[in-house]
Amino acid sequence: MLYINRVSRHCFCRILPSTSRFETCYSNTSQTHFLNSSSQLQNFSQNLIFSGKTFCSESADKLNNSSCWNCNAVPKAAPFLFCDSCQSVQPLHLSVDYFQIYGLDKNYEIGDENLERKYKDWQKKLHPDLVHSKSQEREYAAEHSARVIEAYHTLTNPLSRAIYILKLEGIEVNEEETVSEPELLTEIMETREAVEDAADSKALNEILSPVQEKKIQWSKSFANAFRSRKFDESLTCIWRMTYYDRVNKEIMKKL
Ligand SMILES: [Zn+2]
Repeated sequence: MLYINRVSRHCFCRILPSTSRFETCYSNTSQTHFLNSSSQLQNFSQNLIFSGKTFCSESADKLNNSSCWNCNAVPKAAPFLFCDSCQSVQPLHLSVDYFQIYGLDKNYEIGDENLERKYKDWQKKLHPDLVHSKSQEREYAAEHSARVIEAYHTLTNPLSRAIYILKLEGIEVNEEETVSEPELLTEIMETREAVEDAADSKALNEILSPVQEKKIQWSKSFANAFRSRKFDESLTCIWRMTYYDRVNKEIMKKL
């Protein structure tokens, strides 16, 4: 605990849009939205009506997640998100984290293929044509859709997954934190200059390759540090991943 507190002093606590966008309430119950893409997700988030308290906790607490709201079936496993007996979507409690939504153990290293299949399964379960006509379920499905998409994007990106898993440990990451390592800063500066001077896509790809290798290398370092619960080291890895991620995006923009 002391260790976490010590680490936290280095962190600037703020809510990250990528990880907390839906920790507020969607209370526009007159409409039901099904979100199937990032742009829809963005539109959805812009149209959220915030009530200041969590919609999910109210509805989920009332039902206590103890049995299916539709058929009263008792869940076989926690968290209870979908009833296999009557195929009803259950209310989503915000204490359910992104890993749980995808039935994953809370580990940094995950198999992408597995996640994609589970994402598709969720999309099928939440598809408007399959969701029952009861307004209550349509409401639950809308909530799930937003969170399932957000969770997918967070978990499939190594950097946002790293930030998210640290957040679950109570550590907020300041993505704007700068690293005072002349060697790294010089390397990043030179890479950026090379990107600016690159004449064609061949030249850009030559710059991209080592940047991507560095991203993978620091992601592996994060995995090791996190597994050993060395949170200071985990943060260092995240800041390096952030640098390379930004350069990677700059190159991709030009390609
Ligand atoms: Zn049921």
